[in-house]
Amino acid sequence: MLTVEAALEHVAREIQPLAVEVVTIADALGRVLAEDIASDIDSPPHDKSVVDGYAVRAADLVSRPITLTVLEEVVAGAAPTQPVTPGTATRIMTGAPVPDGADAIAMVEQTQTLAGEPQRVVIDSPPLAAGRNILRRGVSMRQGDIALRAGRTVRHVEIGLLAEVGRTSVRVARQPRVAVFSTGNELVPPDNLPAIGQIRNSNGPMLLAAVRRAGGLPIDLGIGLDDRDELRRLMAEGLSSDVLLMSGGVSAGVLDLVPDLLRELGVREVFHKVRIKPGKPVWFGVREVSGHRTLVFGLPGNPASSLVGFELFVGPAIRAFSGAPFSPPSTETARLTAAFEHRGERATYYPARLTRSPDGQLAEPLAWQGSADLRTLSLADGLIHFPAGERLYAAGDVVAVSRFAQ
Ligand code: AMP
Ligand code: MG
Repeated sequence: MLTVEAALEHVAREIQPLAVEVVTIADALGRVLAEDIASDIDSPPHDKSVVDGYAVRAADLVSRPITLTVLEEVVAGAAPTQPVTPGTATRIMTGAPVPDGADAIAMVEQTQTLAGEPQRVVIDSPPLAAGRNILRRGVSMRQGDIALRAGRTVRHVEIGLLAEVGRTSVRVARQPRVAVFSTGNELVPPDNLPAIGQIRNSNGPMLLAAVRRAGGLPIDLGIGLDDRDELRRLMAEGLSSDVLLMSGGVSAGVLDLVPDLLRELGVREVFHKVRIKPGKPVWFGVREVSGHRTLVFGLPGNPASSLVGFELFVGPAIRAFSGAPFSPPSTETARLTAAFEHRGERATYYPARLTRSPDGQLAEPLAWQGSADLRTLSLADGLIHFPAGERLYAAGDVVAVSRFAQ
């Protein structure tokens, strides 16, 4: 059986970047740039004042206080009309262009105007070094500089930067379409009250949301009964997407039909079963028909198994499809708040509450009732990763943890 690392390598190998599309910056949040973005301007575009005050010649301020003649007032958006010469100053507001001749800005708090004498200002500032309170043209970037590289995920900050450099639309990787359905004769939609033997389909809505969170376009194909014809029909429909994601039906029960049917439909099996707990029976394959490629994931039906399979394999695949580099869930370290006994040859992913403390991050293993216990999972901030093997962990031991996306 594959280790999680080996299984991740298999998934990474099957990712092929999707085509590129153009979106407006209003729609670019969370998308991955497919082009380098060059600035069309110097930023800032002029030497600008970073305070409200007076533009002066630093050489005039060697003795203090000093009285200077005020030439004019320049607000942000206006342009100075006169150079500052010895013995003069220009009143200037934050963001306004610095007049020629001035090489420092005295803060308004260190100046006084005399009643009835708006043309004069008394400056009582310690000596100012040349350049003080001035942001020089082009210090942030020069025209032609690359402001953002391809592969960067666009956050709110990058949208601001794109606007600054004059970009209202950008090339981004297309979002993968991810078809999702849940298999199981026992499943009813969440608006039904389950009869005896039935349970509500919690995986479907959970996985659809996880797909969206990871940057995919979810397509809801609902519930499939454990019936060959029905599952074949849903699979065929889902295979027209970039990713087909199913839950249930991949274990060893008599009605676990998914792997057989996928093979019948021409999906090449890459792996079935990974040394993880929960989620061992996870199935992964690829279908390629006349140039269209579909990654297929069959996650075991227990909600925690589905969640772990998604976090480990599906989420990274969707993010990589969306143009970002392939990366397994990132881990941090934390100290256990309680002892934990790990057994067995499978790596365990265990729900935990993660908190900060003065000594670093703490991980509290939750009192979890196993793979079907979504309620306790909802108290978790993420998963502790226990490597395979027998080990008795003590409170205070350092472990690796990954956080759920918010
Ligand atoms: P399976 O992987 O199909 O053998 O299902 C394993 C367990 O997960 C069974 O107890 C199922 O009832 C449960 N299960 C399967 N699918 C879902 C689902 N969509 N939502 C919640 N529980 C499920
Ligand atoms: Mg089932």
